[in-house]
Amino acid sequence: MTELIQAAEAFARERHQGQLRKGAAQEPYIIHIEEVAHLTRVWGGSEAAIAAAWLHDTVEDCPPTSLEELADRFGAQVAGLVAELTDDKNLGKQARKDLQIANAPKKSPEACLVKMADKSSNVGSLANSPPADWPLERRLKYIEWARDVVTALPEKPEIALAEFLDRCARAAQRAQADFPRST
Ligand code: ZN
Repeated sequence: MTELIQAAEAFARERHQGQLRKGAAQEPYIIHIEEVAHLTRVWGGSEAAIAAAWLHDTVEDCPPTSLEELADRFGAQVAGLVAELTDDKNLGKQARKDLQIANAPKKSPEACLVKMADKSSNVGSLANSPPADWPLERRLKYIEWARDVVTALPEKPEIALAEFLDRCARAAQRAQADFPRST
């Protein structure tokens, strides 16, 4: 592992400390970050992409972390990738979701890979540990939205797309199993 990736990992572990995931299992948030970095690596991501995978949620979720700080510590390329993966927190939730689809076609190949890893991790957690308070409709809507974002990405390596779609199918199956239709 390179120094850049090691430094990004250490930084992410420190900044996400104490945060929990939304799922019923209440896992530490860093499990999500570890998975995104892992997928980005096994799908052949560059050093900068793997570093950005470690850092992809720090600006959004770990104030006062800023893109300027990331640029100072990890360089302009990594900070630029994180910028591509960061929503504008000034916007409402739905506007941010819509923008993820609208902006997807502009993403660089490296940002595409991290984005696919991120969405695969999130959809995977809907299959393995869905939030207890999410009804069927919300789960299905989330899967559909994630699929819309990924579909709109310009670069979709086959191995990554196959994994993502498999997780979508498993999350949908789990949703239907958790909410059996009464006949
Ligand atoms: Zn994420």
